[in-house]
Amino acid sequence: MNAKSTYRVLLYYKYVKINNPEMYASKHLEFCKLLGVKGRILIAAEGINGTICGSVNQTRAYINAVQMDERFSDMVFKIDEADEPAFRKIFVRVRDEIVTLGLPKEEDINPNELSGERLKPEEFMKHLEADDAIIIDGRNNYEFDLGHFRGAIRPEVKSFKEFPGWLMQNLADKKDQKILAYCTGGIRCEKLTGFLKRQGFKNVFQLDGGIVTYAKDPAVRGKYFDGKCYVFDARISVPVNTAEEYKPVSTCKHCGKPCDRYINCGNMECNLQFFCCYECEQKNFASCSKPCMNAEHHKLKVQNIG
Ligand SMILES: [Zn+2]
Ligand SMILES: [Zn+2]
Repeated sequence: MNAKSTYRVLLYYKYVKINNPEMYASKHLEFCKLLGVKGRILIAAEGINGTICGSVNQTRAYINAVQMDERFSDMVFKIDEADEPAFRKIFVRVRDEIVTLGLPKEEDINPNELSGERLKPEEFMKHLEADDAIIIDGRNNYEFDLGHFRGAIRPEVKSFKEFPGWLMQNLADKKDQKILAYCTGGIRCEKLTGFLKRQGFKNVFQLDGGIVTYAKDPAVRGKYFDGKCYVFDARISVPVNTAEEYKPVSTCKHCGKPCDRYINCGNMECNLQFFCCYECEQKNFASCSKPCMNAEHHKLKVQNIG
């Protein structure tokens, strides 16, 4: 790890029963404010899911304190180094679920009871090399577009709760085939693979710890992952594959050159996230289209007036 980095980003989750999510969340928020860490944490009766950022000391103190609670004593923290803060504020929110598959409450998946077989990065890589499985990207289409495992299917979903419908529409006749599923940190695949097993898929595997863990594993170093990994903080993307030469899998919306820069359209009523190279961003005033460039609620106009 780079000792010079000023910040650390922690990514973690655990499916574990939390009896009074509201009370736990309010105490957790107080504690985060005291420590000074920033980020986004979801609390539900089924567990915790967080990404936070802070100094080395702050994040170390956070991990120590959280792991003192025996419910979280074995929770895995994925640690990234960063030169800039990944968040500006701290949110601790109570939700019905930490991951929403969109099933009726009584049909939701409890991954502690039903989930796909977990594969360590090296095992996952061997399964990729065997080339005999259907590889499902358990993330949204715009995450897939920035980077994904070679040969994976692009899910036509914009949010996780669309997955059950999409899976049954596209894979219902593949129940005897081997399925390999992966997502960013592993949390989504726990439910997704549980859902597949309940639907009668027989041979279902998931990448334990997700792309983020696969990228850091010294034996695989992200091999067979093309492009970058989308993350839901100020970084937007992180590198994955250091075992092979890097090239973007996406192209600039304006000029078509290889480009892995996601920006949001400057027209605040559009706000589309699209790939745009630096030159085209300047030329088009960070707009996705001509109409957006001339839009009334363009952030450059608003800033100039303000
Ligand atoms: Zn361009
Ligand atoms: Zn636009």
